[in-house]
Amino acid sequence: MRVAFLSLGCKVNYYETERMKEQFGERGHMVVSFEEEADAYIVNTCTVTNIADRKSRKMLHRARRMNENALVVAAGCYVDSARKRGEADGSVDFFIGNGEKDRLAEVLENALREREGQSVQKKSEAAEREERTRAYLKVQDGCNQYCTYCIIPYVRGPLASKPKDQVVAEVEKLAGQGVREVVLTGIHLSSYGVDLTEKKSFLELEGKPLLSLVRAVGEVPGIRRIRLGSLEPRIITHAFAEELSGLEKACPHFHLSLQSGCDDTLKRMNRHYSGREYLEKLEILRKYFLRPSITTDIIVGFPGETEEEFAATCAFAERAGFAKIHVFKYSRRQGTMADAMEGQVPEQVKAERSDRLIQIGRQLERAYGAPFLGQDVQVLLEEIALVQGKECLVGYNERYMRVAIPVRERMQAEGLCNQVVPVRISSQGEDGIWLGEIET
Ligand code: SF4
Repeated sequence: MRVAFLSLGCKVNYYETERMKEQFGERGHMVVSFEEEADAYIVNTCTVTNIADRKSRKMLHRARRMNENALVVAAGCYVDSARKRGEADGSVDFFIGNGEKDRLAEVLENALREREGQSVQKKSEAAEREERTRAYLKVQDGCNQYCTYCIIPYVRGPLASKPKDQVVAEVEKLAGQGVREVVLTGIHLSSYGVDLTEKKSFLELEGKPLLSLVRAVGEVPGIRRIRLGSLEPRIITHAFAEELSGLEKACPHFHLSLQSGCDDTLKRMNRHYSGREYLEKLEILRKYFLRPSITTDIIVGFPGETEEEFAATCAFAERAGFAKIHVFKYSRRQGTMADAMEGQVPEQVKAERSDRLIQIGRQLERAYGAPFLGQDVQVLLEEIALVQGKECLVGYNERYMRVAIPVRERMQAEGLCNQVVPVRISSQGEDGIWLGEIET
């Protein structure tokens, strides 16, 4: 069967989609792009906001239009929350919740057999496998932080961490497939190991289970880099940062979700830190890592956010010196506390604030990268792609700067994919990409 996947939302979903692709590959099916004709389209949906819900539905309808005879599957978080609300969608053949994703291949094979009255043709596994460079590996599920804008603690179930041995076995398999960089992700990655120990809180555990995991993954032959997914700022302590800085494969890139730079807004969001505490965490990281890349998520237009509160967030972002900001306009999510709050911000105001913060983010990104001009960085080359109309080798350095190197000789360039090479940064391109030259 030809099967196409689309992943919406967070890195966990991305990881789970990769897992599903793998399962279909192992069962002999051909994974094709979402733009191609397929026998089944699987949308791994997201429900973090109402906009995410809308996008999930839109993609499911697009899949139906691609091939009206295909099986269209809605998988993941939107399914769980839509079920709770009793919603249905006529363009979808199967709804597969988070707990049922492992059965998906079997369900679809049976459905196709019934529909077509013929056995499903299997294709050679090896022929369909793409070479991959970077893999997202979900090591933790569930969250008990209850941010007031987020539905996830209600739809994802309790904290659940993947045992270290199992993670290592999966990483060994990925390394065998050519993967060089592993991104460890989780719904609340900082809580990794809480459920595997004496059930202390992640603060009491001081991030030790996660450190132990990074150490073990770093010992897998073939793995060159380990990147951590989004971390809760409170996990950063001197002890945590010092130990992590001693693990040579751990990237100096930290995604610490801020959400707001205003303490009053943070309280309404039920985030458990203040701006001052957050800045202290950044100081710790800058003490133990050389020019660490600190990236973040910020929500604008949260209920009750005044112009002064938003201005505080902008000033905070500049002070923090982020390498990248992902800006989200607050979107109401039924069933959350924030949805019932007074002071919902008009869409036009959210859009204006979003534009302003995106501009600040761009300036900060340029300022973060400027000291690397003329410097050598180590880039894991991932693919050949068109950048500003030119064919380039493209990859990321440890600090997650995207770097493009013009291709001079195609064959030679192809041979460099999936390798870490020293690149001299020469200039800044468009859309946050950096241009460089391979040293010869
Ligand atoms: S930490 Fe907050 S935003 Fe993140 S999954 Fe948990 S409740 Fe949602």
